[in-house]
Amino acid sequence: CVPASASSSPATTAASATEVPGTMKAWVYDTYGDASVLKLDEAVAVPPVADDQVLVKVAAAALNPVDFKRRAGKFQATDSPLPTVPGYDVAGVVVKVGSEVKSFREGDEVYGMISEKPLDGPKQLGSLAEYVAVEEKLLAPKPKGLDFAQAAGLPLAILTANGGLEKAGLFAGMSVLVLGGAGGVGSLAIQLAKQVYGASTVAATASTNKIELLKSLGADVAIDYTKENFEELPEKYDVVFDAVGQGEKAVKVVKEGGSVVVLTGAVTASGFRFVVTSNGSTLEKLNPYLESGKVKPLIDPTGPYPFSQVVEAFSYLETGRATGKVVISPV
Ligand code: NDP
Repeated sequence: CVPASASSSPATTAASATEVPGTMKAWVYDTYGDASVLKLDEAVAVPPVADDQVLVKVAAAALNPVDFKRRAGKFQATDSPLPTVPGYDVAGVVVKVGSEVKSFREGDEVYGMISEKPLDGPKQLGSLAEYVAVEEKLLAPKPKGLDFAQAAGLPLAILTANGGLEKAGLFAGMSVLVLGGAGGVGSLAIQLAKQVYGASTVAATASTNKIELLKSLGADVAIDYTKENFEELPEKYDVVFDAVGQGEKAVKVVKEGGSVVVLTGAVTASGFRFVVTSNGSTLEKLNPYLESGKVKPLIDPTGPYPFSQVVEAFSYLETGRATGKVVISPV
C-alpha cells in the first residue's frame, strides 16, 4: 500500500519543474587542434545538476582567447578530459536548481563565468551548448537593462579587468596604461579604471582606426601603436595593465613602486602574472555600474554570431583584431 503523500509527490515535482530534455545541441571537440576540430553535436547529454549548482538554459555565450588556447592543447596538463564542450561565458535562464541552492530560482536571469579556474580543471561541459550546469556561487543576476548578448560578453573579461586592476593596487588619483585597450578585456579595463577605481589618467593603446573608440571608452590618452612606441614616450604610470603580451616593454613605463599586471606572454621581473578566477559576488558588486550605464559592454560589430556560426566566430577572434567581445547569440 503506497501512502497518498508519497504517490502524489512525483506529480508535484513534475508540475513545478521546467521541461528539460535529456539531450541538447552543443559544440564539441574530441581532439586538440584549430577551429576545424569543432563539431556541432545534436545529442549531447544535458549535464546533471549537483546540489550546489543550477542548470542554465543558455541564451547567449561569448568566446575568449582562453577557449582557443585550450582547444589548441596549451593547457593539456591541467585541462579536463576530452571530449570538451568549450565556453566559459554564459547568460541565460535558470531552469533547475540543486538542493542546496539558496540565491536562485527557476526563471531567474543570470550571467557568469562557468568554471572557477579557467586553466585548472575547467568544466568539460561549457557554455557553447543549450544547457550548462553552474555552481550558484559563480553566477550573478543579469544586470537590469542589458540583454542576454550584452551580459554574456562580460563575465570573464570584466572579472579579469577588475581582478587585475585590484591586484595591481589601483586607487583613486593614480594613473594607468592599458595595453590592448580595444579588446574584450582592455575595453573594460579602461572603463573600470575610470568609473570604478577613479584613476586620474587612463592611457591606452590600439591601432589607428580604434583610437576614437579608446577615447569614447574614457581613455584620456589614446596611443596609436602603429605610429608611436609607448615605451619611448616620456610618461610613466602607477599601473600598467598588459592585455597584449608586452611585459618587457611594459616594465619600462611604470613608475618606481608602481605595478605591471601581465595577462599573457612572458612576465619580466617587477611585473606579475594575473590569472582570473570566477566569482558571482564580484559580478554582483559590478552590476550597479553596468545598470547605470557607467560601464558599458562592447560587442564586436561583426557579431553577435548565431549558434550555428561558432566556427566562424572563433576564426574571427583568432585574428586578434576583435573590437570588444565576440558574442554567440541566440543559442
Ligand atoms: P581580444 O582578442 O579581445 O583582443 C583583441 C584586441 O587586441 C584587438 O582589439 C587589438 O587591437 C588588440 N591588440 C592586438 N595587438 C595589439 C598591440 N600590439 N597593441 C595594442 N593592442 C593590440 O583578447 P582579450 O582582450 O580577450 O584578451 C587579451 C589577452 O589576455 C589574451 O592573450 C588572453 O588570452 C589574455 N587573457 C588572460 C587572462 C588571464 O586571466 N590571465 C584572462 C583574459 C584574457 P588592434 O586591432 O588595434 O591591434
